[in-house]
Amino acid sequence: MSIFERPSYSNEAIAGLHDSFDAAVQTPFSVLDLDEQNEFLIESYNAMQRAVGVFALAVHGAMDQQVAKRHGEHSLSTHIAAGVHGSSKRIGAELAVARWLARFSELRTALADGTITVAHVNELRTLERKHPKASASMERAQGFFIDAAQTLQFPQWVDAVGYWFNALDPDGVLHDPTDPKYGAIVTKLPSGDVIVEMRLDPVTGEAWLVATEREEQKIFEAEADLDDADKLSPRQRTMTAIMRLVARGFQQKDGTFPEPMVQLVMSEKVAEDLLARAMGCIDPDTDGPMDFDPFSIPIDYDDLDRRCETLRGTPIHPMHALVPLLIAKMRRLVIDDYNQPTERVEDVPEFRFFTKKQRQVLLALARGKCSIPGCHNPYSWLQMDHVQPHNHHGQTVLHNGQPLCQPHNKAKGDRGVL
Ligand SMILES: [Zn+2]
Repeated sequence: MSIFERPSYSNEAIAGLHDSFDAAVQTPFSVLDLDEQNEFLIESYNAMQRAVGVFALAVHGAMDQQVAKRHGEHSLSTHIAAGVHGSSKRIGAELAVARWLARFSELRTALADGTITVAHVNELRTLERKHPKASASMERAQGFFIDAAQTLQFPQWVDAVGYWFNALDPDGVLHDPTDPKYGAIVTKLPSGDVIVEMRLDPVTGEAWLVATEREEQKIFEAEADLDDADKLSPRQRTMTAIMRLVARGFQQKDGTFPEPMVQLVMSEKVAEDLLARAMGCIDPDTDGPMDFDPFSIPIDYDDLDRRCETLRGTPIHPMHALVPLLIAKMRRLVIDDYNQPTERVEDVPEFRFFTKKQRQVLLALARGKCSIPGCHNPYSWLQMDHVQPHNHHGQTVLHNGQPLCQPHNKAKGDRGVL
């Protein structure tokens, strides 16, 4: 029983609709047998779709008869909102389908009698936006859209209807290369994961697809003899392909790399712990094999002995560093409590530029940040700066070096002050 007292409807059709809904609401799902439960599920979905269609019929009628205006409301959405105590903004959005259907009497009826679904309608709305020149012919094609929906599964229906739109308006929406939607957004999460979202124009997109698909195919062929379980998933394959292309771009003409693509800074303690766990060493506490629970490896940004991060200072879970740890080149750097290296790094006092080793040490000490407090410019903008400028007798030694971002370095110039 509903806690709301329903008004007695003057309209028989609507009263019957509500009676049916009330009866459905009061049917306990669990008392139905399996076939009936299935029918309930499928048919309530159908009913939901049809209800949208019935609403579209009502909206069309109300627009035609100027119902809102005759009730002194300036729009249909505010008029409905007043009647149902709802949000006119929400209702305005919900009216979009019904309003769009105002032009299409056959589609409206087909939705109301359950022949097509809201998904069909929304697909047509999208296609119309993409193919504005086809818009004028759509009214005549309603019968085709509806017939096709009765004979084809939804994806095939989308293809069939898509052909129709393409035939009438082959160019579709003209692509504007200055569209701000084109481009890439790269987001680095606190975990170190990086999310890349890209929207490419058709030409750039084609170039991208050709390059990555070719690379994907090579990977796919190389995997031919592997068990299915060992093969990469399609999205892993795409990522691997992209990383290969990136690596190739990073390569110099002679096949070498200017510096490693990834540099990690890991404390000896974390590295040893990680290796011990990976090799199944005995846990001194339990006398059993070390539990390889990655979350038991403590890392701590502020503790020298528990550091595990990229050279730019993003803390990463040691699990992600396991493979690099096994295959990478290592460089030992011992730092004291004052964040100063205790071992001498070879000085080149008269050189104009810092050596690769000096740069790596300075970046590790600065945690990959610009030395100006509060500066968050990207790691790749960093340059190695002589604290006392080189042409003011500043030496190219570790304690006279600091990473500065390019803008701060430029602002400092040779004057040696900011
Ligand atoms: Zn800076």
